[in-house]
Amino acid sequence: MIVMKFGGTSVGDADAIGRLSSIVAAQRGRKAVVVSALSGITDALLRTARLAAAGDLDEASAAVARIRQRHLEVAAALGLANASGRVDALEPIFAELGSLVRASSLLREVSPRALDAIAATGELASSRLVAAALAARGLPAVWVDPRLVIVTDADFTHAAPLMDETLVSVERVVTPLLARQQVVVTGGYVGATREGVTTTLGRGGSDYSAAIIGASLGADEIQIWTDVDGMLTADPRIVEGPRPVTELSFSEAHELANLGAKVLHPATVEPAVKCDIPVRVLNSRRPEAPGTLITRRPAQGQSAACALACRRPLAVIEIESRGSLRPHEFLSFVAATLERSQMTVALMSAAQSRLTLAVEDDAQVDGVIELLKSAGDVSCQRGMALLSLVGKGTQGDASLFGGAMAALQDIPVCIVSQLPSGRSVGVVVREDDVRAAMTRLHDRFFPQPAVPRYAEA
Ligand code: ADP
Ligand code: ASP
Ligand code: MG
Repeated sequence: MIVMKFGGTSVGDADAIGRLSSIVAAQRGRKAVVVSALSGITDALLRTARLAAAGDLDEASAAVARIRQRHLEVAAALGLANASGRVDALEPIFAELGSLVRASSLLREVSPRALDAIAATGELASSRLVAAALAARGLPAVWVDPRLVIVTDADFTHAAPLMDETLVSVERVVTPLLARQQVVVTGGYVGATREGVTTTLGRGGSDYSAAIIGASLGADEIQIWTDVDGMLTADPRIVEGPRPVTELSFSEAHELANLGAKVLHPATVEPAVKCDIPVRVLNSRRPEAPGTLITRRPAQGQSAACALACRRPLAVIEIESRGSLRPHEFLSFVAATLERSQMTVALMSAAQSRLTLAVEDDAQVDGVIELLKSAGDVSCQRGMALLSLVGKGTQGDASLFGGAMAALQDIPVCIVSQLPSGRSVGVVVREDDVRAAMTRLHDRFFPQPAVPRYAEA
C-alpha cells in the first residue's frame, strides 16, 4: 500500500496532471493519492482573504472569479468540463468560497477559522480535479473529502492532527475503499475538528497529510512527488548545480526540513518514524530519477555532511543583562517572554549575562524587543539567515567547523553554533550574503566531481 503525494507544481496545469495520472497508473497495488492546491492557488486565496478583510469586495470577488477560471481552464484542457465549460463537482466549492469572501468583507475581518475555510478551497478543488482526471483515464479513482479523514485540534491555520481519532476515520472511510481496489484521492493540508469545522495544518502541510494518512494505513511507503530530483545538497534557488542525496536517515531529513529545506514539511517525518515507513522524495517531471530514500537506517558510505539548508528571514536579538537580575532570573525572564509571544527561536547562544537569539523575522519582533528591554540592553539586526550544514558526522567534528569558517572567509558571520541535535553546524549571516555564503559552503563540502580530462589528439 503506497501513499503518493503530489505538490503544487505537480498538479499546476493539465500537462502536470497528465504526468501525475501516468505515475499513478504505473504504481502497482493499493494506493492513496494526496494532492496540494494548484501551484500559486493557496497564496492567491490568502491574498483574496486579505482583500475581503479590507472590505474590498469587488477586488476579492474578481480574485475568486480568476481562481475559479484557472480551475475550469485546467479541467477543459483535460476534457473534464461539460458543454457550458463548467465542472459540476467544483461549483459548490467556489460558491462557498464566494460566500465566505462576501461574509468576510461585510465583517471586515477574517478570523483564523474563516482563513482556513478559504485556504482549504485550493486542495478541495485540486483533489476533485485529479480524481476526475484519473477516472477519465480509466482508473477506479474515488474522491474523499479530507475533512472526513484528518481530525485535528482547533488551532486554526496550524492545526495539529489527533492521531487516534484520525486512525479511526481512516479505517472507517479510506480502508474499505482501498480494499475494493479503488484509488483514493484526497486533498492535503486540510482537516477538520471533531465538530467538523474546517482546519489547515499550516503552509506546506500536504506532505504532513500524506505522512499522517500513510501512518494510519500502515503504508509500505510514502512518496512525496515534487519538482526536483529529491532532497538536494542545497536549495537549487540559491546554489547552482546541487546534487540529489540518494539516502537519508529520518533524523537527517527531519533536521534539514526544520532548518529550511522546504522540499519536506518539517512534521512529515514524525508519523513515518513512529511507524517506520520509508519516505521517498521523487520528481514528477522525471519519474525515472531515483530520488531520495529516507529510512530509519542511517545512510551508509556517505560523507560526514549530507546537505546544506537555509532558513530566513531571521532577526538576531542580543540582550545584555544590566545586572539587576541574577543570571538564572535573566534567563527565565527571556524564556518566559519568548514563550508568551510564541516566538520561534531558530538558534540561541548564551554567555552568563548576554544572550543572542536568532528568531523568525515577523511582525512580532518589535513587540518582543520592547518586552525584553526591561531585562537588559537590547539590540536587533533584521534580515538575517541561518545556514546549516547537516550530516550524520558533524558532531564534535572540528574540521567541519574549521572548513565552514575557512570557506566563508570575509563574509561576516554573527553566530556560529553546533546545533543542539549534534547533527548540524549553523552560521547566521546577512540575507544579502546568503547566495555567496551558500555557494562557498557548497563548493567546500560538495565539490563537483572532477571532469575527466582527455589528452588532446
Ligand atoms: P511542492 O509544491 O511539491 O510541495 P515545494 O515548493 O514545497 O514543492 O518544495 C520543493 C522546493 O523546495 C524545490 O523546488 C526547491 O526550490 C526547494 N528546496 C529547498 N531546499 C531544498 C533542498 N535541499 N532540496 C530540494 N529542494 C529544496
Ligand atoms: N497548498 C498548501 C500551501 O501552499 C499546502 C501544500 O502545498 O503543501 O501551503
Ligand atoms: Mg511543499
